Amino acid sequence: MPYDEGQGWHDPVIMPYGDITLSPSAMCLHYGQTVFEGLKAYRRADGGVQLFRPDENFKRLNRSNERLVIPELPEELGLQCLKELISVEKDWVPHTEGASLYIRPFIFAVDPFLGVHPGEHYLFMIILSPSGPYYASGLDPVNIYVENKYVRTVRGGMGYAKTGGNYAASLHSQADAYEQGYSQVLWLDGVEQKYIEEVGAMNIAFVIDGEVVTPSLETGSILSGITRKSALELCRSKGIPVSERRITIQEIADAYDAGKLSEVFGTGTAAVISPVGHLKWGDKVMTINNNKIGPVSQMIYDTLTGIQWGKIPDEFGWIVPID
Ligand code: PMP
Repeated sequence: MPYDEGQGWHDPVIMPYGDITLSPSAMCLHYGQTVFEGLKAYRRADGGVQLFRPDENFKRLNRSNERLVIPELPEELGLQCLKELISVEKDWVPHTEGASLYIRPFIFAVDPFLGVHPGEHYLFMIILSPSGPYYASGLDPVNIYVENKYVRTVRGGMGYAKTGGNYAASLHSQADAYEQGYSQVLWLDGVEQKYIEEVGAMNIAFVIDGEVVTPSLETGSILSGITRKSALELCRSKGIPVSERRITIQEIADAYDAGKLSEVFGTGTAAVISPVGHLKWGDKVMTINNNKIGPVSQMIYDTLTGIQWGKIPDEFGWIVPID
């Protein structure tokens, strides 16, 4: 669906997946004026199809739009486009247990112009891709490496926006982590490099002395994950204490040494919960919960995936059925 200054968003169409034509001077290619989202459609046992908190994705898209000076996409319009697209492509939502349909809405500036200023012409697109079960058997813990050299975003930067530049900033460290045998990078704050922020495509949480502790969003440098929000709401509803605050990596190392760090887990749409098995900070390698998933992480995983696949009642009002 295009946006043109003076006309607004107009004429949405559904078309087969294929290449698109862009001017070599299209602004998105040079100055990174792009935003995106990621969510999934799930197949229930009765054959129906449902989305998990899609309104949150469109709200976040608009927060990213505002930061990138991209025109607002009315939430209702975005959702309507998504629902219509999925209704047409419903067969693409896998029937295999644990599989889902990944949905990628995105917006980019298409003006053919080499000066630096916000565009006047945009495209909003949604692409779909069936994705297999994330975990073949059990929830395998991931190994995370704390980045000490580079930073991904700073206070006042774009960390809270889901925009390509943030991911571009992370690629070098991701490659370094792989080289050292770690699959993910844990980012520290961009000023002092001592406060924990988030993982490449997940938020992070710690269970310290029975309390779920996760970095607060106040700095504006962390993505406001929808899985994070849901996990925290779920924990609060079950009476598990939750604290959203600034946490230094030193505090985590101290809690580990004191035997108080019982679980570390990532939250994100792709895996829902990723237990962390090893956390490497400089020369220190922390082995979490004997490299096994812990009870809080398991409860969050079971409940959120149960709600997503319609196996347990959605007492929170998170599900939007498509049929
Ligand atoms: N942080 C970053 C940088 C991400 O890319 C993602 C994935 N969208 C998340 C956190 C988790 O967000 P969500 O739970 O909405 O998928």
